[in-house]
Amino acid sequence: MSRILVVEDESAIAELISINLRHAGFEVTIAGDAEQAQVAVDGVLPSLVVLDWMLPGQSGQSLARQWRSQPRTRELPIIMLTARAEEADKVAGLDAGADDYLTKPFSANELLARIRAVLRRRAPDALDSAVDVGLLSINPATRRVTSQGKEVKIGATEFKLLHFLMTHPERVHSRTQLLDRVWGDHVFIEERTVDVHVKRLRESLSTVHCQHMIETVRGAGYRLTNPQAVTA
Ligand code: CA
Repeated sequence: MSRILVVEDESAIAELISINLRHAGFEVTIAGDAEQAQVAVDGVLPSLVVLDWMLPGQSGQSLARQWRSQPRTRELPIIMLTARAEEADKVAGLDAGADDYLTKPFSANELLARIRAVLRRRAPDALDSAVDVGLLSINPATRRVTSQGKEVKIGATEFKLLHFLMTHPERVHSRTQLLDRVWGDHVFIEERTVDVHVKRLRESLSTVHCQHMIETVRGAGYRLTNPQAVTA
């Protein structure tokens, strides 16, 4: 479910990182410079980017700044890599919008721990942890949705959609954002597709009387709310 983009021009390091990330269950794409990284992000929005500071051409720092300035990539989690352990570099990296910062050489375990910490904070949908909202529980590890012990029959796309909504509750998501974050594509799929899957999701949730948790926000998109929290 989680895609990580590794932007690193030193292919040996990029390979080493991706082997470890794949082993940990992540899907990995490698880009050798800022231009390739931008092409990758334009295609599919990753869950997180591991971004090397020193790249040929545009620097990682400048690329991070660029992503932070654009609405689509504003919240893209970024872990910056650098060869220098100087305090000034760390500050500059975090200033450019990186969520965390790692100095080479680092161990694979350290990188994985940092990635999980950033995802927990910024993109919990990229992790396999079970999530509860109100009476509804979703568990990506077992691929089950339940409410008060009753299992909800749900399709694969509806499962991903519900997981994203449950890990980002009470926020309005536009159809474009949902296509980006759930389908991984914002260009080639029609926005109406989202409506079709929301309808199916509500049908599934109606078997446990939770269909009202998915709200349509006119002119804006969809939001998952916890009706129990409102009445409590
Ligand atoms: Ca480099």
